[in-house]
Amino acid sequence: MVSLQEDVSKLFGVGQERAKALEKLGIKNVKDLIFYYPRAYRDFSKIIKITDAKINQKVAIKAKVLEIKNRPTRRRRFSITEVLVTDETGALKVLWFNQPFILKNIKPQDEVLLAGDLEFQKELVLKNPEYEVVKSGQELKHLGQIAPVYKENSKITSRWLRGIIKPLILNLEISDFLPKNIKKEKKFLDLKEALLEIHFPKDLKHQKKAKERLAFDEVFVPQLRSLFFKKEFQKEKSFPLKIDLSLIDKFKNSLPFSLTNSQRKAIWEILKDLKKENPMNRLLEGDVGSGKTIVATLVLFLVAKAGYQGIMMAPTEILAFEHFLKIKNFLKCFNLKINLLTSTTKAKEKRLLREDLEKGEIQILIGTHALLNKNLKFKNLALVVIDEQHRFGVKQRKTLREKNKDILPHFLSMTATPIPRTMALTAYGNLDISYLSEMPKGERKVKTFLVPQEKRFKAYNFIKKHLSKDTRALVICPSIAQGKLEIKAVQEEYKKLELFFRNQGIGLLHGKLKAEEKKETLKKFKEGVYKILISTSVIEVGIDIPEIKIMMIENADRFGLAQLHQLRGRIGRAGQKSYIFLFTDSKNPETTKRLHSFSKIKDGFRLAELDLEIRGPGEVFGTEQSGYFNFKLASFTDFELILEAKREAERVLEKGIEKFKLLYNMVKDQEKEIHLE
Ligand code: ADP
Ligand code: MG
Repeated sequence: MVSLQEDVSKLFGVGQERAKALEKLGIKNVKDLIFYYPRAYRDFSKIIKITDAKINQKVAIKAKVLEIKNRPTRRRRFSITEVLVTDETGALKVLWFNQPFILKNIKPQDEVLLAGDLEFQKELVLKNPEYEVVKSGQELKHLGQIAPVYKENSKITSRWLRGIIKPLILNLEISDFLPKNIKKEKKFLDLKEALLEIHFPKDLKHQKKAKERLAFDEVFVPQLRSLFFKKEFQKEKSFPLKIDLSLIDKFKNSLPFSLTNSQRKAIWEILKDLKKENPMNRLLEGDVGSGKTIVATLVLFLVAKAGYQGIMMAPTEILAFEHFLKIKNFLKCFNLKINLLTSTTKAKEKRLLREDLEKGEIQILIGTHALLNKNLKFKNLALVVIDEQHRFGVKQRKTLREKNKDILPHFLSMTATPIPRTMALTAYGNLDISYLSEMPKGERKVKTFLVPQEKRFKAYNFIKKHLSKDTRALVICPSIAQGKLEIKAVQEEYKKLELFFRNQGIGLLHGKLKAEEKKETLKKFKEGVYKILISTSVIEVGIDIPEIKIMMIENADRFGLAQLHQLRGRIGRAGQKSYIFLFTDSKNPETTKRLHSFSKIKDGFRLAELDLEIRGPGEVFGTEQSGYFNFKLASFTDFELILEAKREAERVLEKGIEKFKLLYNMVKDQEKEIHLE
């Protein structure tokens, strides 16, 4: 008996070469193979008589071979196999081009099924039909039924896959992990039957039933996993904080502006969490410029004043430094010890920081991943703020707990990525979400244009005209390559622009620069030494330079809409009228359509949903996390299905997931946990 985990190379009929070709299709083990769903079906279930066959129609017939031969042709390397077949109603000519081997498979007197398009060229002919020889005692695999069509490659054909998948499913022992009551209530097929029907449906109704069941699984399991982790997380201990509410007013009064309603609501939601004994796990979501930093600053401030420590982690050195300056400035009247720690902090300074941190003298520490360094110990870390960090998982959390006398801090993650609702439920069901829906400075006036290549110089002229003492242009090249190639990409762009923008000062920014160099470049850009900055998308998650009025994005098609939206958030921050020029070499009409939608739609949520529809979750949220969303049949746009699965997942957890052994084993695997943080 084969197991689901068995390597495909161990299967009968799969050699080294086939195994390699299968791997290219993402199939490594038996499980991958049986879950390799057809991309379409070919319905050749209805067999008709030759007299009933109509011209220019897809037909399937059953007939006897009278004659078969390879006909010589004048052209070299070109062969025609000519066949004459009959049934009791008539005769038909069949031609195959360049498949001389068919002569070995089909013999005179054989009974064959043939399916293809019937044509009329002086006589009726069937060209290059699919065929299957009827053999007594053997089930048909391809014709006379609805046959699956798979994504193929040069070595792996649908014909071959049909032959290997069917016996596999039939002979495997496939235990169903879905609780019986769910199956009963929803009238779902059993897993094994569903798999059989999705590959080899008796009819389209059965295929639909199978799809219902399997699509449900796809959304149910990840939701159950998220909710299970939420529950587990709530068992952890944290510091329940006593917050002095009068401090909130003091803080507000020290600000040059008043908070928006959504900022207030978010703060209130966070404070409610902080009072609890179990750790907060909250996501603060809001477009670029919605004012997340101030919310985080207030919370860090309250935690510090309550006698605990708080840290804030940023994805890059530049951002960490910017946050440090801003937060220090916001809190300058409150006499707190606030420090910065990044990988470039000098060794001696680091040592002092470590000591002060362990003693509890540092109240707020801002930094990069360096904050997770194993030598760092806290006295009483009660809050971790994570800004735009997509990789903060179970392991990091464990490290933090170890540094913190086994107590888990409260977590507040911040992101400008709009997460479509269905996705929030499925993948981030373990997080509570606060959302900043208002833009404190009002809607920004950014105009977006998709510029055809022939108008490139017109766009350059426009930029030239607008550059000035306090106007900058930012040029973004997607980081298609890393390392040397990345540098080459920006350097080539530099050469292109240098001809046109002589004397304007052009700066370069890419991932390979040292933190100091990056800082220096950005400083020069801000000050106007550089009026134009060419950058890879390293800039995406950070910089706040209000002078940027124009942005050019090269190869814009390489970005997702949500990503482009992030980039758009970087410009016109002083409230001035500003412009984005998108360029693409792509001739694909779909691409153009996508970029056109981007130039029209301003709402980040709508863009994210559109991205989800067009490019799928992997593209929206990075490939690293795409494996998690193994949606083949379900769709993120199916809100009903996702809500239904959520209800069922909640019910399973209420009953106690341990009761459902198979399901429990699938879900408790922590490595699969996903975090947006
Ligand atoms: P985000 O991190 O969400 O992109 P920031 O926190 O950096 O946004 O805020 C963007 C700008 O708006 C900052 O200059 C900030 O000081 C300012 N700001 C934040 N909240 C308000 C508010 N309620 N009223 C006016 N300006 C605000
Ligand atoms: Mg921010």
